[in-house]
Amino acid sequence: MLRPDGFAERLAGVSLERLADEGVRGIIVDLDNTLVGYGSSACDPLDSAWVHSAVSRGFRVVLLSNNFTGRVQRIGEALGVPTVASALKPLPTAFWRALAVLRTPRKATVVVGDQLFTDVLGARLCGLRAILTHPLEPHDWVGTRVLRFFERIILGKRRRA
Ligand SMILES: [Mg+2]
Repeated sequence: MLRPDGFAERLAGVSLERLADEGVRGIIVDLDNTLVGYGSSACDPLDSAWVHSAVSRGFRVVLLSNNFTGRVQRIGEALGVPTVASALKPLPTAFWRALAVLRTPRKATVVVGDQLFTDVLGARLCGLRAILTHPLEPHDWVGTRVLRFFERIILGKRRRA
């Protein structure tokens, strides 16, 4: 349940070619510390280029965030991809909402995110694949910092690209 299918240094490090080869058609991307720094609205050009490249290759992409609607929506609009906010990950309902937007089969959908207990666990509960990235910044919401402690115990040295 807590074992990712793959690791990546960052979002832009996830190989779209490999995802395509594996039959993936839909990508659910976490927002905070995966696409943008925590609380930030600025996306690194590397990662925005990755999103654009995914869309132009025909992948369906959705941003899925536990954060509130306004900011999430603005980032999605800037990138030209749909968003699902206030998601309550790891609850499966969050991922069902994202799947409803993507309209891709579970087996052809992957979740990319920086947290074991929201992104990876949620993906698993929903029967989706998961790729764990390094958090973009060391800053986190206070609740997340507690989860990071347990993440380190479970992952040990396994978290590598
Ligand atoms: Mg995150």
